[in-house]
Amino acid sequence: MSPPGAGDAAHFDVLVIGSGPAGQKAAVQAVKAGRRVALVEQEPGVGGMCVHRGTIPSKTLRESALQLSRLRSSAALLDFALKPGLEVASLMARLDEVVAAHVAYMGRQMSRNGIQLYHGRARFLSDRLVEVLSVDGSTRRLTAETIFIATGSRPRSPAEIPIDHENILDSDSILSMLYLPESLTILGGGVIACEYASIFAHLGVRVTMIDRADRPLKFMDAELVEKLVRDFERTGGRFLGERNIGSVEWDGVSKVVTRLATGETIESDKMLVALGRAAAVDGLDLAAAGLRANARGLLEVDAHCRTAIPHIYAIGDVIGPPSLAATAMEQGRRAACHALGLPPGSAAEMIPIGIYTIPEMASVGLSEDDAVKRFADIEIYRASFRPMRHTLSGRDEKMLMKLVVDGATRKVIGAHILGPDAGEMAQLLGIPLKAGLTKDDFDRTMAVHPTAAEELVTMYKPTYRVKNGERV
Ligand SMILES: Cc1cc2nc3c(=O)[nH]c(=O)nc-3n(C[C@H](O)[C@H](O)[C@H](O)COP(=O)(O)OP(=O)(O)OC[C@H]3O[C@@H](n4cnc5c(N)ncnc54)[C@H](O)[C@@H]3O)c2cc1C
Repeated sequence: MSPPGAGDAAHFDVLVIGSGPAGQKAAVQAVKAGRRVALVEQEPGVGGMCVHRGTIPSKTLRESALQLSRLRSSAALLDFALKPGLEVASLMARLDEVVAAHVAYMGRQMSRNGIQLYHGRARFLSDRLVEVLSVDGSTRRLTAETIFIATGSRPRSPAEIPIDHENILDSDSILSMLYLPESLTILGGGVIACEYASIFAHLGVRVTMIDRADRPLKFMDAELVEKLVRDFERTGGRFLGERNIGSVEWDGVSKVVTRLATGETIESDKMLVALGRAAAVDGLDLAAAGLRANARGLLEVDAHCRTAIPHIYAIGDVIGPPSLAATAMEQGRRAACHALGLPPGSAAEMIPIGIYTIPEMASVGLSEDDAVKRFADIEIYRASFRPMRHTLSGRDEKMLMKLVVDGATRKVIGAHILGPDAGEMAQLLGIPLKAGLTKDDFDRTMAVHPTAAEELVTMYKPTYRVKNGERV
């Protein structure tokens, strides 16, 4: 039966709002199960923030920074600097091409799968009825048995910081900066703050990071993070931890002035505010569907990503951390399976995390701190080295690898890596960790030589043990 007010609405089994990684996966899972699926996207291209303002653009700039840093380290005889006043866009020359190809590919994938795409802004008229407002002002009504809210997130803008998107920027506007600044202050110590801090530092910008915590990336292995901060400081960056912001202002001439509660003053050409993300639910008219965001501005869901209204699910950044494309996709797939009564497979306990700082950082499984809380006896295997493969080409990049092993069963329960291709390694390590393989299985595995990853199967002795919380 049509919901009240549906009129000539088009009816679908599944309606997805938002075409980012979460929405796409939910939509694809539903069509695979033979359902009629509609997807609404307000932007001209599909793909979400991930493609247009997040992962892809930031990694494009990172590639330029990485190439420059490798040139500098391998060509010690060359003394070069970037041209002053370099245009940021010139460092991302291939971005438009990469994004256009990606968007076209995803669009084709959707139409091949028979997903009906509506271009416009969606808002709820009731819990089963959605209105789509197109750019030309026309509206369309859609009804569905199951609705997925996958509208993502936007940068959090604290009221006391005057973000003007010209001098004081957020993670959406930072890449529209015309010229590479000489100095940049970054507020925050999360993934986005750290990635941009190391990227800009490697591009020769004087970067100052300011955070309330004593170190950035509190959820990652402390030793890896300490090394990352040391590397950042070696490239001319500064990390100011345990600092509260007093005020931020643009002086109207040439500098952003940041006053800290400690009395310190920091001046820089530009500022990046990276103080977390807020759910993008404005304009959705959640109340019409019987929903509301919680005090933190996020949509609350149960273990299956179901909201308080059982046929409406919320997936991806709109439900809050970890706010990664990888988790958004998995939430989309699992929620669609749940809604359609399909087995989703066991939940991923071993969530791999890749952080694209320079150097790259990645982990899968338990950190040392978490393992100590859950196991009476753990062993840490640790290697810090310069991969021979890289030194051959003159690259001066160090790696730090740690395996966390349960001393009782010998199972490898965590892996943490800092260095080139850390993300690729963590991805693959997820398989033996999920399968419950032991350190002895690792030791009996043949290694490809010369590789950096061979170290993972040749760390024969634990560096130290932690028994009942005591390091021995
Ligand atoms: C700088 C940066 C770097 C990042 N790097 C990484 C990384 O390296 N690895 C990683 O895993 N993650 C990374 N992320 C995070 C990742 O981009 C997000 O976690 C991911 O995009 C979230 O996916 P989503 O589907 O929930 O939302 P989004 O990708 O934000 O997609 C939501 C979509 O919904 C649409 N929408 C919103 N409201 C409406 C409406 N009312 N009607 C119609 N459409 C609507 C939006 O236009 C958007 O297209 C990064 C993020 C940033 C900002």
